[in-house]
Amino acid sequence: MKWQGVYEKAYKWAKEEINDSPGIALGFHSVVDGLINVKENEFEKIADLRSYVQDEPPISIKTPEDFLKGFAYSFSKGKALQIMIESENVYKWIKENFGFGQIRLGGTSANMAVALSKFGFKDVLIYIYPLSKDLVELFPESDNLKTIDSDGNIVHPKHAWNEEGIKAVHWIFEFKKGQKISGIECPRDNRFIASWNPVNSKLKISESFKINFPKYIDRYRKFIIAGFHIMREVYPDGETVDKRFDELVSFVKEIKEKGISIHAEMASIRYPKVRKNIVERIFPLIDSSGMNEVELSWIAKDLGFYSEELERSNPIKVYEFLKFLLKETGIKRIHYHTLGYYIVVSNDENKEKELMKLSTAALAAAYRAKFAVSPNIDDLESVMKIPISDTGKKAAETLKSTDAIVLPTKVVEKPKLTVGLGDTISSIAFCL
Ligand code: AMP
Repeated sequence: MKWQGVYEKAYKWAKEEINDSPGIALGFHSVVDGLINVKENEFEKIADLRSYVQDEPPISIKTPEDFLKGFAYSFSKGKALQIMIESENVYKWIKENFGFGQIRLGGTSANMAVALSKFGFKDVLIYIYPLSKDLVELFPESDNLKTIDSDGNIVHPKHAWNEEGIKAVHWIFEFKKGQKISGIECPRDNRFIASWNPVNSKLKISESFKINFPKYIDRYRKFIIAGFHIMREVYPDGETVDKRFDELVSFVKEIKEKGISIHAEMASIRYPKVRKNIVERIFPLIDSSGMNEVELSWIAKDLGFYSEELERSNPIKVYEFLKFLLKETGIKRIHYHTLGYYIVVSNDENKEKELMKLSTAALAAAYRAKFAVSPNIDDLESVMKIPISDTGKKAAETLKSTDAIVLPTKVVEKPKLTVGLGDTISSIAFCL
């Protein structure tokens, strides 16, 4: 009863709050997604999946075997995983075997921009690169969704294109709990993402954006950075990820000086040096970050704190490590999400407000999981009756005596879609 009351209060609170929403800008990762609902026989035709199950997934996909190993890892554990394809031959091999699937808009920044504009935030600006017609036309019609075109004008994305063609595709293989491939049973609804993105893997900030965004900067009070997972440690031209981060760090410093509040979204970042740059160079500068249990456990591994308990979402271990990260890096807030609950550790004393933000985000995630589309704020009423997770309630009880803010969430029994849920959760909670 107590938690249901929190959700009902949050809904009313968010409806008021959204009227004063600040301008929000997002970069640097939008892409064409190819959504494939996994069919058992498609994989069984290609290989016996049992031969590809291993404890660790590959770092990148250079061969069809790497692709199968990544898929087998994600499917057999029911864990979300994204890996970059680094060979054009594998890109062609996947295209031949699976096609593009259902083409839709994807990429963390685009998912978030759509979620926020649909939700009702008044002014959402998304950086898009490349400004390709095939990509920008996937953005929904919406007066509150804008980008900056190459001439420096703020326009709806579909008016901003300056080239054509699909330059990158991220295949999303969605699988279901209970599905069986080669005798392996999947334990949880989730997805494996294989990404081909040679064009944006440097997470380049275009000259046009660098010059023009500062002109409009006073309109935007929040900036969400995402897309680190498509970066490499060393690029084919020899450039290193440390060098790439020089550009990102200087951008972050520039907007921070203007008083913009900054959130960085983690993701399935396979390369340790990319994670290291975020934690050591970005975290000390920013206000907030969002991540799930896998992403947190990888950071823990990098810092020598790995424990299986973290990956299994043991609330005490998670809390302790989040506190450690806050203290070590200077970041002001971390929003952790896992199936059944969220934990926030932060320097902000206003716990009640944080709980309102989290509850609103959880309702939005439940709506997206149930209906496979992002909700408008008024839609949240329709998911209000979904039961609240018992695992989540236990986590809240376990951490009751700490300063963690814990929200047990509503969990949709048979979700229609799991991709983009983390993006919805983190962005709505940060922007409210
Ligand atoms: P990510 O893997 O980062 O996209 O985050 C997925 C998050 O979505 C999980 O951590 C959960 O908090 C949430 N989630 C996943 N499945 C469901 C579901 N069936 N119902 C509600 N929330 C879900």
